[in-house]
Amino acid sequence: ETPMALLEVQDIAVHYGDMCALSSVSLAVEEGEAVAVLGANAAGKTTLLRAISGLVPVTAGAIRFDGDDITADPPHERVERGLVQVPEGRMVFPFLSVLDNLRLGAHAARARDGEAETLELALELFPRLRERREQMAGSLSGGEQQMLALARALMTRPRLLMLDEPSLGLAPLLVREVMERVQDIHREGVTVLMVEQNVAQTLKLVDRGSVLENGVVAMSGSAEELSASDEVRRAYLGI
Ligand code: ATP
Repeated sequence: ETPMALLEVQDIAVHYGDMCALSSVSLAVEEGEAVAVLGANAAGKTTLLRAISGLVPVTAGAIRFDGDDITADPPHERVERGLVQVPEGRMVFPFLSVLDNLRLGAHAARARDGEAETLELALELFPRLRERREQMAGSLSGGEQQMLALARALMTRPRLLMLDEPSLGLAPLLVREVMERVQDIHREGVTVLMVEQNVAQTLKLVDRGSVLENGVVAMSGSAEELSASDEVRRAYLGI
């Protein structure tokens, strides 16, 4: 009776040499949901996103997207399916204009049709990027570069957008803005899986979350359940 999840991670393990970074991690994301992965430093959050993107191989388990087993597929094929990750750190091309950075996002075949429309949507969501569209990306502020990274990901027409700490290193006001834009993207119908250290704000945005501890899922629940949990409150909300 359960609907087929858009993303299904089943009992995966990831090793870096002898070191086990993830073990028996399972997670499902339904179409249209926003889901958070929480956890302390080195818990394995980035590793989980990289495994889903195909940037690190899994040593056990399976990953399915839209019902297909993609466990062994190379990263670019996952992007073609609409499984897109915005990496931690901004990674824009500093010597290209804002517009050219955005156009590069539409490189995947699935994004080329309708590129003009998607660009219009991206510039509507990010008016500051429209103002600065001819400027070199490297001349934008940190916050603007983060917005550009988000907008560029949108240009790929993602079905599932994975965000790795989109608010990292930003001032509180900008953290709020990034969160609002993520919410806008989610409202446009994009399914979201995000890693964030700003747990309080993240739990306002997502439907559900999982907490990683030392490479295993320590807890999963709705945003309400996690917000009410003593462990989450103590460890991540400072209460
Ligand atoms: P952070 O919040 O600090 O980014 P994280 O939860 O994203 O942490 P990961 O970056 O996934 O954690 O790291 C999980 C563990 O794997 C850590 O102990 C880390 O040192 C280790 N690790 C990560 N990447 C590599 C790598 N390329 N080679 C070896 N060990 C790695």
